[in-house]
Amino acid sequence: MKHQKNSFLFICAVMFLFGSATLFALLNIEPAHATALSNLDSSAEAAAAPATANTAVKAAKTTNVPAPKSWKGYVTADAKPFLNVRTAAWGKIVDALKPGAAVTVVDASGDWYIIDTGSALRYVYKKYISKKKPEAPKPPAYAVWTGYVTADAKPYLNVRNKAWGTITGQLKPGAAVKVINKSGDWYILEGNKYVYARFITKSKPAAPAASTSWTGYVTADVLNVRSAPWGNKVTTYSRGTAVKVMAKEGDWYRIDASGKKLYVHSSYISRTKPAAGGSSGGSSGGSSGGGSFGGRPVAGGRISSYYGYRKDPFGSGATKFHSGVDYAVGGGTSVKSLGPGKVVYAGWGTGYGNYVKIQHDNGYVSYSAHLRSCSVKTGQRVGQGTEVGKVNSTGSSTGNHLHFELRKNGQSVNPASIKGVLL
Ligand SMILES: [Zn+2]
Repeated sequence: MKHQKNSFLFICAVMFLFGSATLFALLNIEPAHATALSNLDSSAEAAAAPATANTAVKAAKTTNVPAPKSWKGYVTADAKPFLNVRTAAWGKIVDALKPGAAVTVVDASGDWYIIDTGSALRYVYKKYISKKKPEAPKPPAYAVWTGYVTADAKPYLNVRNKAWGTITGQLKPGAAVKVINKSGDWYILEGNKYVYARFITKSKPAAPAASTSWTGYVTADVLNVRSAPWGNKVTTYSRGTAVKVMAKEGDWYRIDASGKKLYVHSSYISRTKPAAGGSSGGSSGGSSGGGSFGGRPVAGGRISSYYGYRKDPFGSGATKFHSGVDYAVGGGTSVKSLGPGKVVYAGWGTGYGNYVKIQHDNGYVSYSAHLRSCSVKTGQRVGQGTEVGKVNSTGSSTGNHLHFELRKNGQSVNPASIKGVLL
């Protein structure tokens, strides 16, 4: 008996060493059902669980075979980090399912669902199984932002179809881009374009000077060039001189004079190059078309104000630009056209009062302002010497006088420099 007793102990030791699963495998019993059996005594759900391995198999088969009873469930998102898969209610943990994993539920038992893994029936806690498929967790959305190509991306920033991919375009420094994502050292722009991230900044760079500058030409005979608006006179430019205009500051253009920042009044700079030789000196005045100027617009009187800067006649104390020549003459004096042309306006205008605007055949446009009345009508042809109106002081005027102004390409010019015009 002593031997028998030893043998029994030996068997128990084997059972202990191999573990129940191995033993049940040896016994050709499915572990799920066997464990359910082993838990009978301790589990609260034991009463509802199959009483024996055999009945459990039978029960599983009967619930599993009629397919309509089974349904597809999903592990809920709050089953973190895993949902335990047990051999029975509170049974041994034999697997773990991630949130979102699909399961085939074949039966329920108390707080538990019985699932068919394809190879075995397992138990998962009901609370963590939903019939609704959980939405795939979205990657955190990238907040789209507007960036700018940095100034040191010279001469261009390459745009590629992927990181280090084919170059599909180029962006100039300062160009605005919409960044929709980041991938390593690269920003992904709208349209799935890749640019090297180092050359994109969130702060808008100052507009590169080169992209906004333009070439203008001096329209005055002698143009003062100053250190600042109304600053010290640094030099003078003659008519036709080309200047590099960088920016407009009030009435002034900031120009780049061989790297120096200087200022000229915008009234004397034109975007169009003046005709070769200019009109100063009278050799080519009226070159744009037929007809020419001759004489004075009024007879007698004196010039009360020349073209150019002057003290504000209305007493503000400021220096103001005077765009024409003022002839101080008596009220009612006849005002004559200096040359042939067409009246493009005859009537009232703020500041000018009653005035006549003539498009002359030679390309200049004349303004005769502060008139008592207009003697011509809009659309009318006039010749040299045709009366266009009579002097008065309408509009912004301090007394009877004719304000006579000439413009070319929208810019006022000094009548004194135009051939045929006598002051
Ligand atoms: Zn005037």
